[in-house]
Amino acid sequence: MTTGEIHPAPTSEHHTPYVAAADRYESTTYRRVGATGLALPPISLGMWWNFGDNRPFSTQREILTHAFDRGITHFDLANNYGPPAGSAEENFGRVLAKDLGRYRDELVISSKAGWNMWPGPYGNLGSRKYILASAEASLQRMGLDYVDLFYSHRADADTPLEETIGALHTLVQQGKALYVGLSSYSPERTVEAQRIARELGTPLVIHQPAYSLLNRWVEDGLLDTLADQGMGSIAFTPLAQGLLTDKYLHDDGAAPSGGRTSLSGHLTPENLDMVRALNEVAGERGQSLAQLAISWLLRPGGVTSVLLGASSTAQLDENLGALGSAPFSDEELARIDEITGKRPGEVSSIDIWNVSARI
Ligand code: NAP
Repeated sequence: MTTGEIHPAPTSEHHTPYVAAADRYESTTYRRVGATGLALPPISLGMWWNFGDNRPFSTQREILTHAFDRGITHFDLANNYGPPAGSAEENFGRVLAKDLGRYRDELVISSKAGWNMWPGPYGNLGSRKYILASAEASLQRMGLDYVDLFYSHRADADTPLEETIGALHTLVQQGKALYVGLSSYSPERTVEAQRIARELGTPLVIHQPAYSLLNRWVEDGLLDTLADQGMGSIAFTPLAQGLLTDKYLHDDGAAPSGGRTSLSGHLTPENLDMVRALNEVAGERGQSLAQLAISWLLRPGGVTSVLLGASSTAQLDENLGALGSAPFSDEELARIDEITGKRPGEVSSIDIWNVSARI
């Protein structure tokens, strides 16, 4: 039966245009990337987890715009981020189209190729064939003409370094990347890659290694190498995927949240004891554990930027609270070394990426 009333078609979504906070640059001091003209925020946001099809788009949009409102200008992606692979770049493309795109010149967007992306011999590692095809696909997913930064995501023992670095150089020549860098390369391979890059006229500007209180392999030569080579550094998994936060402090071997199977094996009683002892140091400094982990990475002699993940704006705000914290005393640094028991060069079991740095 019809009533004669007219119902307007339901509108699926009313988009309120995003306007960035006017004071977004007032509380952050940006840090120069090595000897380059590029600057990064001390805290950058990575999209490995929480920005695929595993999270509501509205939450992703909220985190990304909030990050920008708080002075985070750098967003890190890779071809395979999701899950599923590729979806983080697609979703970021949607946020760019709706909200952040109008601020494109205020953003540093990175992507990478190196880990498995598509089946067959041309979908991973460091060949020219893979890197150029993958970079083009990433640009299309994000709806961009160029990324600010493109990385070789891992070392490849079987491809000549000249070919991999030559592919990065081509991306810059094509205008598809402004700067290029490496992730998880050994100090020796970094030096060789930089020599090749300089000869081509496209110096590598940054290295992205895993680095945290629980994983200090970079202290055995890589940080010194980067300083020598005029390269900056950005530490990934700075919170050991959440282990260095209050998330698991009161658990014993609890299942990780967020579907992170790569974390499961690390929630051991030994690691949890270490984390609780670090939490005591944090408490004495008036910080949360996450804030301690971040400010320690940003200490003098540390990294240019800390590349963290977050599943809520509350996590992001807590983490940003690390900025401006008191410098570490020698006693605090020594105590942290004693607790973690990690010596430079020792490979942490948490470092599942070290397979690349050993090439
Ligand atoms: P992470 O910062 O070590 O861990 C982030 C996770 O910790 C969050 O997703 C959240 O877990 C939890 N967390 C963060 N802040 C918290 C807080 N204040 N309180 C409680 N829990 C908190 O880093 P990640 O996500 O493993 O990696 C960060 C980025 O590094 C990636 O997005 C990517 O850009 C980059 N990365 C690069 C490589 C490479 O090979 N180059 C490899 C890995 C990562 P829940 O999500 O469970 O809430």
